[in-house]
Amino acid sequence: PLIDGQMVDDHQITVCVRKRPLSRKELNRKEIDVISVPRKDVLMVHEPRTKVDLTKFLENHKFRFDYAFNDTCDNAVVYRYTAKPLVKTIFEGGMATCFAYGQTGSGKTHTMGGEFKGKVQDCKNGIYAMAAKDVFVTLNGPRYRSLNLVVSASFFEIYSGKVFDLLADKQKLRVLEDGKQQVQVVGLTEKVVDSVEEVLSLIQHGNAARTSGQTSANSNSSRSHAVFQIVLRPMGSTKIHGKFSFIDLAGNERGVDTSSADRQTRMEGAEINKSLLALKECIRALGKQSAHLPFRVSKLTQVLRDSFIGEKSKTCMIAMISPGLSSCEHTLNTLRYADRVK
Ligand code: ADP
Ligand code: MG
Repeated sequence: PLIDGQMVDDHQITVCVRKRPLSRKELNRKEIDVISVPRKDVLMVHEPRTKVDLTKFLENHKFRFDYAFNDTCDNAVVYRYTAKPLVKTIFEGGMATCFAYGQTGSGKTHTMGGEFKGKVQDCKNGIYAMAAKDVFVTLNGPRYRSLNLVVSASFFEIYSGKVFDLLADKQKLRVLEDGKQQVQVVGLTEKVVDSVEEVLSLIQHGNAARTSGQTSANSNSSRSHAVFQIVLRPMGSTKIHGKFSFIDLAGNERGVDTSSADRQTRMEGAEINKSLLALKECIRALGKQSAHLPFRVSKLTQVLRDSFIGEKSKTCMIAMISPGLSSCEHTLNTLRYADRVK
């Protein structure tokens, strides 16, 4: 199908960037916006050579992606060009993944989990919920109704190489790989859902579990990957027909904490760094016959293994960008990473 005159359907990998607006806090401290989106697929970083005078020695970095979303785009627009085209994939027996990548505070959770109204998150306009809604629309539509598929959902977190169930009081779970390289998260809560409302309540529950018991100064959520999954199975069968995974990744700036003085922080940083590097390799190899993919290197890539193999697998990455001058270094790191994914 054509979206705005462009074929979007044949991409196995879609890579997009999203610029968030400057926050009120940033505006108050006169933070300078160094990002522009001159075209719907181009994003520019206007980095001053000296951080003092912006009018001098400007170095412009230009990046091209499948889509570049300006700060005027809302979640619905981002969804329409990223995850929405992949809903069909899981009905046709494929695996789909959607990643939110970027530094802490760049808008990953806002995009995936839903907009914040103060401290409360309105999960209805997040990508998780919008995709769930389209899954039910498609399920009950004429084309796939006869498949008699059952929808279930799960939500977990990967923190420091360990898996925690967000739908079961953050219970720690084991990951097992059988002889046929099938990966299983043992005991993961998988709730059968019959309506969007049921999914919304699971998302709300998981979102709340994710942020409970943490102070903003020491935020676990920036150091963990959150994985929300929608699974389709034929009625009465345990075999997976299709699966959609949504991953709110750990802040990529945490990957450079490997030189921190604190041992715990250093180890977490090393783990995040390792998982993000392995992820890049696995996405790049999507659908190709690569013999030695680094699935086992990290828990993240290990549990997503089945989503990277197979001709019908599709993935999209949304790289989130903070617009401020003070985020420039991290922004360039994010853009270089995203650039290499494809
Ligand atoms: P991350 O999950 O990447 O650490 P968040 O999603 O928590 O970042 O976003 C950080 C802050 O910025 C939140 O207060 C959020 O409401 C706000 N924000 C993020 N993206 C947008 C956006 N596109 N429009 C408006 N506010 C945003
Ligand atoms: Mg977050």
